Amino acid sequence: MQVDYLIVGQGLCGTWLSWFLTKENKRFLVIDKNDAITSSKVSAGVMNPVTGRRMVKVWMAEQIMSFAHDAYLEMGNFLQITSISQKNIIDFFPNVHQRQVFLERLEERETYLSSYPEQNQFNSFFNYQLGCGEIHHSYVAHLEVLLPAWRKWLTEMNRLWDEHFEMEKLVSGREWIQYKHVEAQKIIFCDGLSSFENTLFKQLPFAPNKGEMLLVDIPGLPDQHIYKKAFTLVPLSAAGKFWFGSNYQWTFSDPNPTKEFYEHAKRHLAQWLKLPFTIVDHKASLRPATLERRPFVGLHPHKENVGILNGMGTKGCSLAPFFASQLVNNLLRGEAIDPLADISRFKKVLSL
Ligand SMILES: Cc1cc2nc3c(=O)[nH]c(=O)nc-3n(C[C@H](O)[C@H](O)[C@H](O)COP(=O)(O)OP(=O)(O)OC[C@H]3O[C@@H](n4cnc5c(N)ncnc54)[C@H](O)[C@@H]3O)c2cc1C
Repeated sequence: MQVDYLIVGQGLCGTWLSWFLTKENKRFLVIDKNDAITSSKVSAGVMNPVTGRRMVKVWMAEQIMSFAHDAYLEMGNFLQITSISQKNIIDFFPNVHQRQVFLERLEERETYLSSYPEQNQFNSFFNYQLGCGEIHHSYVAHLEVLLPAWRKWLTEMNRLWDEHFEMEKLVSGREWIQYKHVEAQKIIFCDGLSSFENTLFKQLPFAPNKGEMLLVDIPGLPDQHIYKKAFTLVPLSAAGKFWFGSNYQWTFSDPNPTKEFYEHAKRHLAQWLKLPFTIVDHKASLRPATLERRPFVGLHPHKENVGILNGMGTKGCSLAPFFASQLVNNLLRGEAIDPLADISRFKKVLSL
């Protein structure tokens, strides 16, 4: 079997890379072992143009968010699913300091923020003594629908192998690579955390970040908004189901859900929410983050038939479509990858 590209992984990165290659009529095969827990499967799917406690605009916000929005819409239309919804974030101030930060950013005329005109509108649903603001141009990508729908399409097209990729079975020549009976011009690793162990890429400054979430049933809570008060409550596709989380841990002993998070999150939700709720699941995963908080995109500087699309960290929903497209333009037309994401910035490190 001959293909142009072999792709390892069908999380957000492998999904978007295979989508843009499909649009270019390229031949490819995706190998993904369908882990029950991955970063993409645990993700909230939120695309938020402002970030952090200081509420600063995210890196390349205008360019990346609008590109991602259009890409999700197009893929959703192709698969005949709702893959993305626009939902403003109602930001309930958790303390006086955060309220002050929001007001200062408003005074600076941050375009994504506004004061919320009807401060009492959410009184029957939430406790919030310090008021709320609103964040515009934010979205929820419905990954729980999109990822399986794309997998199904790939399977029907005979473009996906549901199995574990074994690095030892990869044979690499100068102009091609071979894996079992598949010959490809290039192999691109979109395998999230597995790349941290990959002999070709493990020198990269990966910095995994652990996050946990609860899946919660909340009958009667309107699903037009994302709600935030230190934790975030995100409406999922199924009626009455919400994603609730998360935390960001740089040091941890294992990737598993913890009792501490469960108790803390449950207490927080009970104090914030006025409606009854039921916790139906609790999951944890590691975000494939990087030390300098920028992705790893492109061909290996010393092995031009091996590439990577990884390191999306906390922002995979918006970064993955944008950089998958840049990678395809680079592979097919030699167009430049943004220097802050281009893997060639690690040429020296990767020669070791
Ligand atoms: C709790 C939590 C909440 C998050 N919320 C958000 C959010 O709201 N918005 C946002 O933008 N980002 C969010 N993220 C981050 C986002 O999920 C990640 O940036 C993104 O999912 C990374 O995608 P990926 O494709 O690189 O990796 P992954 O999702 O890990 O995908 C890698 C794939 O490769 C497969 N694989 C690995 N090794 C092999 C092998 N040897 N053989 C075959 N297959 C293999 C895995 O099974 C997997 O399917 C969140 C992450 C977490 C943990």
